Amino acid sequence: MLDSATEELKQVWSDALEDIRKEVGASDYETWISKLQLLEIRDDVAKVAAPTKYIRDNVTWRYSDVIVNALSAGGCQINCVNIDVYDNNNSTIVAESAAPEKKQPEQKSAINLEGMTVLDKKFTFKNFIVGKPNEFAYAAAMRVAESETPAFNPLFLYGGVGLGKTHLMHAIAWHIKETQPQKRFIYLSAEKFMYLFIKSLRYKDAMSFKEMFRNVDVLMVDDVQFIGGKDTTQEEFFHTFNELVNNNRQIILSADKSPTDLDGMEDRLKSRLGWGLVADIHPTSYELRLGILQSKAKRHKIKIPDEVLEFLSMKITSNIRELEGALNRVVAHATLVGGNITIDMASNVLRDLLRSNEKYITMDLIQRKVCEFFNIKLSDLTSTKRQKAIATARHVAMYLAKELTTKSLPDIGRSFGGKDHSTVIHAVKKVKENVEKDKEFATNLEILRKTIEN
Ligand code: ADP
Ligand code: MG
Repeated sequence: MLDSATEELKQVWSDALEDIRKEVGASDYETWISKLQLLEIRDDVAKVAAPTKYIRDNVTWRYSDVIVNALSAGGCQINCVNIDVYDNNNSTIVAESAAPEKKQPEQKSAINLEGMTVLDKKFTFKNFIVGKPNEFAYAAAMRVAESETPAFNPLFLYGGVGLGKTHLMHAIAWHIKETQPQKRFIYLSAEKFMYLFIKSLRYKDAMSFKEMFRNVDVLMVDDVQFIGGKDTTQEEFFHTFNELVNNNRQIILSADKSPTDLDGMEDRLKSRLGWGLVADIHPTSYELRLGILQSKAKRHKIKIPDEVLEFLSMKITSNIRELEGALNRVVAHATLVGGNITIDMASNVLRDLLRSNEKYITMDLIQRKVCEFFNIKLSDLTSTKRQKAIATARHVAMYLAKELTTKSLPDIGRSFGGKDHSTVIHAVKKVKENVEKDKEFATNLEILRKTIEN
């Protein structure tokens, strides 16, 4: 606590906070504002303390005006806010303030560039495990990172959530920072791009916004699907994009869909986005998941048996973020509660996650896929016909139902036109025998199983 804060100051601040929260919304308020403290008001300047440099820079850039307005509305005589970093225990100021609030446009841009491009230390090429699903995107990213002039413009990375798009973009940025430090780059989300753009319009500062973006060597915008349907932002983005490309600057974009599939995006922008190299990251494979887990497991001090890593790679198929989360949970549990990491322990700790990753396979799906595969009618499958092709298909379908669903044998029998559970047992036995003696049959069964599971 700050001893110097008078009751009155506290009251003024808590009123202002109330206003600010309404203005910026609950989540931004939590992230940025709630951790600030008002230290004093002197000579028209409000002195505010922030817990970290990062918060200070962001708040200075994004919320200075909001804070000034809120305090003024509360009757304070101020025209600027000065935000410092303080150390939590003794409220000493540990760093100089980023900049006073009423600053020149150039200064604003400079601060912003710094504070805006926040890169995750872990997201490097070195920490990126390459496998079939992402090798193309990786190679393209590497190529762009190593080139001095734009290799492909833009590089457009796309794929589902948690598959490594942001990781690759940060990796490019780290690489450029290291090997070509003279290059100016900006990495930001499309959401942030829009936020800054709208703000610059609101504060009639569009010039410095434009300048900032048009003066970089490399512009990276993450999750561009976000500006779908946001027409003015799209327009501005389009102009920025064109200008940078025309000046031979590198642009790197990511999205959850390919350029042509982006919703709410103008056609000319869509086509422009696809001009360079479009590289997709495919859903993970078992091998990639295992590779990632093995590499992450090495970093933990605790021993994780291979069979547990294999188990997790088999079961958590959704995306890499969830896979990492699963590993962390298992390790945290073992560290906190003690005991060895085993498959049993992991499945217990991850019960909810395992359930949501389980694909729900229905009897209906199995029957449909089997019919397609053997090219027979559904009514034949559930009939009592004994022709070889039909009987085989029926056996296979029953076998797969037992393997892939939790249905009981009588239940399975009933789904095939009211057959007895002993019929199902017989079918399962037949299929197992066939797998043993007929290689082609075994392969076909595997293919069929995969088409049902995917
Ligand atoms: P996206 O941006 O596609 O939603 P992220 O780049 O945020 O996904 O990746 C999610 C998490 O998975 C991150 O922690 C990232 O480090 C990790 N990750 C993704 N791909 C890989 C990979 N090939 N090797 C190692 N970690 C990866
Ligand atoms: Mg991302």
